[in-house]
Amino acid sequence: MKKCLIFLEKNYEKFCVDLLKTMEEIFGKNCTSYALSFDSDTEAVNGRFDKIIKVSDENIPVYDVSVLTGILSEIHRKYQFDCILVLATYFGRMLAPAFAANVGTGLVADVTKIGHYKDKIEMIRPAFSGKLLAGIINTTEETVMMSVRPGVFLYEEDRNKDTEIENYIPEAIRPSKIERISRKEKPRSKDIRESEVLVSGGGGILEDFDIIDGLADRLGGMKAASRRVVDSGKADRSIQVGQSGKIVHPKLYVALGICGMLQHVAGLNRVKHMIAVNTNKEAPICSLADIVVEGDASTFVKNIIERIDREK
Ligand SMILES: Cc1cc2nc3c(=O)[nH]c(=O)nc-3n(C[C@H](O)[C@H](O)[C@H](O)COP(=O)(O)OP(=O)(O)OC[C@H]3O[C@@H](n4cnc5c(N)ncnc54)[C@H](O)[C@@H]3O)c2cc1C
Repeated sequence: MKKCLIFLEKNYEKFCVDLLKTMEEIFGKNCTSYALSFDSDTEAVNGRFDKIIKVSDENIPVYDVSVLTGILSEIHRKYQFDCILVLATYFGRMLAPAFAANVGTGLVADVTKIGHYKDKIEMIRPAFSGKLLAGIINTTEETVMMSVRPGVFLYEEDRNKDTEIENYIPEAIRPSKIERISRKEKPRSKDIRESEVLVSGGGGILEDFDIIDGLADRLGGMKAASRRVVDSGKADRSIQVGQSGKIVHPKLYVALGICGMLQHVAGLNRVKHMIAVNTNKEAPICSLADIVVEGDASTFVKNIIERIDREK
C-alpha cells in the first residue's frame, strides 16, 4: 500500500481535499491518504482522509517555512511517504521547494495533469509561459513531490472515511529567524473557484466592466474577467480566469465579450453550462457555449438586469 501526504493549507481546505483526486490518478485506490495540519480546519476535512496528522503547538510559527520544513522532514522520516502533494498557492510555492531540498527529493511545480509512461508516473505542467505542456517522468523509486494547481483536480467521492487523528508532537523545532512584530488578519474574500455562477467579462465589455457586478449579484454568483481586462487595470488579478489566472468549474459561466483564446479556455474546467455574448458569433468561445447571444454585451447586461428586476 502506497502512502501519500497532503499538506493541509489554512483557508484552502477544500482544494486540499481535491488533491485526493490527484493521489488517485497517481496510485489508483492502492494508497493510504495522510493530511498534515498545522493550523488548518481539520473538522472541515474529517472523513475525507485515512489519517490526519495534527501538529497544534501554539509556539510553532506557522508562517515560517523553514520551521515547518524541519517538522515536515521529521514526519517524513517517520512515515516514509511515497508521494507528497502541496497546493501551488503562494504559500505552497514557498514551502514545497524548501521541503524538497531538505529531504533531498525532486519537485515538480504547478502540475495540472497526471499521466503514466510505462510503469512510471508522468507529471504534466505548463512550460514556456504555457506555450507548451511538459511531461516530467519520475524514473527513480524516491518520494514523488509536486505542487498542484488548485481547481484542476476535483474530488467527488461522497463516502465518509473513519479518519484516524494523530496529535503529533515534534521532537525538535528549529528556532525561527523571523520575528513577528504584529499580526493583522486579512479578510478572506470569496474565491471565484468556489462560485457556482460566474459572470465573466472580456475586451468586449471593457468600458462597462463595472455593470457586471449587478448581474453577478442577481444570479447569486461572482464577477470574473479575462486577462485583457486585468491587464487594463479594470479588474484584480485574483478574478482572472485562465492559464495564468485561476481554473474554475462553475455550473454556469456567462462569457461577456470574451473571445475565447486558448489561454482563457484553459481556465475552464468542466463548466456545466455556458452562455456567450459576443458581437462576433464566430469567436472561438461561441463554439463552447450552450447559448450564444449575438450582440453587444453591455446592452445584454443592462436588458437582462432590467428584466430580472421586473419579473421579481
Ligand atoms: C502566456 C500567456 C498567458 C495568458 N493567460 C491568460 C489567462 O490566464 N486568461 C486570459 O483570459 N487570457 C490569457 N492570455 C491572453 C489571451 O491570449 C487573450 O489575449 C485574452 O484572453 C483576450 O481577452 P478577451 O477575449 O477578453 O479580449 P479580446 O481578444 O479583445 O476579445 C474581445 C471579444 O469581444 C468581442 N466583442 C467586441 N466588442 C464587443 C461588444 N461590444 N459586445 C460583445 N462582444 C464584443 C470580440 O468579438 C472578441 O471576441 C494569455 C496570453 C499569454 C501569451
